[in-house]
Amino acid sequence: MIAHDDTIAAIATAAGLGAIGVIRLSGREAITIAGQIFAGKPLQEQESHTLHFGRIIAPGEGHMIDEVVVSLFRAPRSYTGEDVVEISGHGSPYVLQAILEACIQKGARMAMPGEFTQRAFLNGKMDLTQAEAVADLIAADSRAAQQAALSQLRGGFSADLKHLREQLIHFAALIELELDFADEDVAFADRAQLSGLIQVLKEKVNLLIDSFRLGNVVKNGVSVAIIGKPNAGKSTLLNALLNEERAIVSDIAGTTRDTIEESLNIKGILFRIIDTAGIRKETTDLIEQIGVGRSLEKMRQADLVVYLFDADDSTTEEIAAQQDELDKENGNYILVANKTDRKGTEAARLKYKAFADIVYISAREKTDIDALRERLYNSVIDGHIHSESTIVTNSRHHSALLKIAASLSDIQQGMDHNISGDLLALDIRRCLHFLGEITGQVEIDRDILGTIFGKFCIGK
Ligand code: GDP
Repeated sequence: MIAHDDTIAAIATAAGLGAIGVIRLSGREAITIAGQIFAGKPLQEQESHTLHFGRIIAPGEGHMIDEVVVSLFRAPRSYTGEDVVEISGHGSPYVLQAILEACIQKGARMAMPGEFTQRAFLNGKMDLTQAEAVADLIAADSRAAQQAALSQLRGGFSADLKHLREQLIHFAALIELELDFADEDVAFADRAQLSGLIQVLKEKVNLLIDSFRLGNVVKNGVSVAIIGKPNAGKSTLLNALLNEERAIVSDIAGTTRDTIEESLNIKGILFRIIDTAGIRKETTDLIEQIGVGRSLEKMRQADLVVYLFDADDSTTEEIAAQQDELDKENGNYILVANKTDRKGTEAARLKYKAFADIVYISAREKTDIDALRERLYNSVIDGHIHSESTIVTNSRHHSALLKIAASLSDIQQGMDHNISGDLLALDIRRCLHFLGEITGQVEIDRDILGTIFGKFCIGK
């Protein structure tokens, strides 16, 4: 375990009023420091994982700051791996600040951002991907984001990669062993087997890379542009989707606030409807200004386009032309026929039967809005999310995975061209390095040596 000389302290709960607030201390002196300001049982003598009721007394002045409950966690069985004390007080910012100051007067230091988790990582309580998942979990604003962060925190992602890495280390070890016996022309590493492994690795890494698109969506939400001609019903649809009666339809569009974005949570996935101000403007006297250009720009920006048209007055030629345009600009779109309340859904279906995937709705009557929600969700998830599958949400991991994929190709190409063992070993080391970059394990040489000695008992 890495020893940190100082003891850090911080308010662990959010700023503002709350029923309770927590001050967290971590480090060698955590229990001693807390003990000096705590009137109750002597904390130094208490067991790990116990709770103690008492009062916090201001150092020097001797007056009571708050009645609190203190939780004790002794190293290494704590979040950071060090001695940790959590003081739960009443959630007034003033009281919490006073307790924190008391801790600092007794020798604690204000923690830096992320320092508790950093210590957890340095003390081997978690690897880098897990430490990063803590940050994601704290920032999670939808169920899907929370699930992805939780699965990463549980180590699903690192477990996959560690497994890949171990298999590769095994081969690196064998090839390096060959180099030691270069004179004797032996091949410990079966090239066909190695090739097979590289193939498997490539597939897994590519799956992880692909999951990043979804991971991004899970973490940041999907941007959706609702486009269509004036009066198609875009504002009405926006209202129906948001399921609220905030009046933003055409006749009073000018009176609405100028929001840029509204968000919508469908089964835990966040959809961000972009440029809602534009939707509103299109319904007012700005109609002339809103040329094709603006829609094109929106189309390109969005992850997903909803093209809305009036089922009553849109010809099939018009829709076909629009579809061509969408195919060119943004392959990810949904065609939505609106105002089916006028002539009925069946009539509309008949009219547009040449198009396979139109969603038929009435925005004003809120008919089949759920079908559209379902389609929005499916267009993103597409059967991809399973609770057990690994989803990459972190761009650092994504770029490391791209480097891994590239180095796997190098290894494969090297083998195809029968390059020498030492060059092959170099390529494999590089790949191992990138894998290690993700989880924070980069002591590759020692790992390789460990494998050689562990498995082959060379003993020199
Ligand atoms: P936008 O210009 O595309 O934003 O269209 P609006 O949402 O402002 O709607 C234009 C007009 O169409 C308004 O008078 C709406 O009440 C009407 N409208 C919208 N959706 C429907 C619908 O589903 N059925 C019918 N009959 N009218 C609708």
